[in-house]
Amino acid sequence: MVRTYLYVPPEENAAVRSAGGRWDERLKCWYIEPGDDPARFARWLGVDSAPAELSIVSDEARVAATTVACCRCHEPTEVICIYCDSGTASGEPLEHFTVVDILAMDEALARQLAPWPGFRPIAAPDLHGPRYANHCLRCGAEQDDRDLHTEPDAPFFDIAHAAPGSIRLIALTGQIRLSGDEHFTIE
Ligand SMILES: [Zn+2]
Repeated sequence: MVRTYLYVPPEENAAVRSAGGRWDERLKCWYIEPGDDPARFARWLGVDSAPAELSIVSDEARVAATTVACCRCHEPTEVICIYCDSGTASGEPLEHFTVVDILAMDEALARQLAPWPGFRPIAAPDLHGPRYANHCLRCGAEQDDRDLHTEPDAPFFDIAHAAPGSIRLIALTGQIRLSGDEHFTIE
C-alpha cells in the first residue's frame, strides 16, 4: 500500500482529520492511501505531488553565492540564492529581487543548480511547509532561508548594493520559472 504523506501545520490537524486524513502514530505524520480522493487534500500535498504554479518568471536571473558561518557547526559554508535583475511575479514586473523560500522550480533552473547540492528541499517541512533551503555541506544543517534575506545585515538583503566582492554572481541561461516569495528593497 503506497501512502502519500501530507504536510499539515499543527493548527490544521482538526481540518485534516475531518477531511478523512489518516494519522501515522509512529512517524507522527498525516497521510492518505490510494483510495482516498487527493483533491480533498490538495492544500496539504507537498512539492512533488502538487506542483505549485510557477508564478515568478525571469530571463535575467543569476545565482548569488556567498560564504556564511553554519548556524549549527559554525564552519564556513557556501549559500546561494536566486537573484533576478528583472522578471515578473504573477505578471507584475519587478527588478533586482531575490526569491525566498522557493517552493518549486522548473527543470531549466533545477538543472543549472546541480553544482550546489547543498541547496535542496528541506527534509522535514514544518509549519511553513515544504521549501528549498541551503544545507551545510559539512554537518547538513538547514540554513534558514529568511535569515539570509530579510534582515538589513543579511548577505542577500540588497545584492545590488552589497559590498564589492562579498557576493559571487553566476549567470543562469535562458528563462527560469519558480515559485516562492520575492524579496526586494525599495530604492
Ligand atoms: Zn554545519
